[in-house]
Amino acid sequence: MSAQLIDGKLIAQKIRQDAADRTQKLRARGIQPCLAVVLVGEDPASVSYVTAKERALEEAGMASQDIRLPQETSEIELLTIIDKLNQDPQVHGILVQLPLPKHINEDRIITAIEPAKDVDGFHPVSVGNMVLGRPGFLPCTPHGVLVLLRELSIPTNGAHAVMVGRSNIVGKPLANLLTRRDINATVTVCHTGTRDLADHCRRADILIAAAGRPGLITADMVRPGAAVIDVGVNRVEDPAAKKGYRLVGDVDFEGVKEVASFITPVPGGVGPMTIAMLIQNVVQAAEHRLQGV
Ligand code: NAP
Repeated sequence: MSAQLIDGKLIAQKIRQDAADRTQKLRARGIQPCLAVVLVGEDPASVSYVTAKERALEEAGMASQDIRLPQETSEIELLTIIDKLNQDPQVHGILVQLPLPKHINEDRIITAIEPAKDVDGFHPVSVGNMVLGRPGFLPCTPHGVLVLLRELSIPTNGAHAVMVGRSNIVGKPLANLLTRRDINATVTVCHTGTRDLADHCRRADILIAAAGRPGLITADMVRPGAAVIDVGVNRVEDPAAKKGYRLVGDVDFEGVKEVASFITPVPGGVGPMTIAMLIQNVVQAAEHRLQGV
């Protein structure tokens, strides 16, 4: 059996259209949602992510403030810029593209962002609200995965979800969200300290990989009929490709698609959802401002 391919682009497009419609309503009231996008340095992957986000904002009728800073920018300079953006009434959301150069403390920068503008959902206040089930911005990639599961009617109630990875931006929040009552999965979280990863993975109804290790999840690690969500985005050398590399996920797609019931491709699976959820958070930030939330 071959798995059903999850078309992240198609689902993301629906969400982006909804955000565009909401933006139009705001613009009719004289408000244009605006995201400040801060990029420090010129890491090629970060540059391409930022470009894709700005393109999506434009397409939805939103504005962006593109702030590109040299690699040598100091932490204090960056904090000063964030402070200005926090005060700027034209700016509804602030995104600092990660990773930052080593000499800048990421935690300090994330914490400096005003929670009402934290559209990435990484601020400790946003994380706290998420864990407590209170309203607030949800982190884009984990939220995007939940929307994929919902849109495809992949059953989560009582399902066993195995999360491979425990980062602050993907694994931890996603594992937490999956246990919400309305989703109701039972979650196992795996990491580099996990003994016998394959054994845990084989018990999953929903297997989510966010390890950043190309080909980590192979067909023998997947229970027949499981839904497999591949968050990983890895550059692997490919002399035949125009750029000299291609993007692959953490899942051995060719093998696993023969075993799984659903599978996300890389690219075109979770990636487009991350951008769509960001766009949704920006319009939400602008709506909240209008409502005085
Ligand atoms: P990260 O911070 O490097 O975290 C990776 C996690 O995977 C860690 O918890 C690590 O365990 C675990 N891990 C690594 N190798 C493992 C192994 N062999 N067995 C079990 N666990 C292992 O990465 P991240 O930021 O979460 O990103 C993960 C991947 O998703 C990357 O490829 C990234 O590019 C991609 N990503 C994609 C999107 C998107 O929109 N599609 C968004 C964000 C990230 P330890 O904690 O023990 O080190």
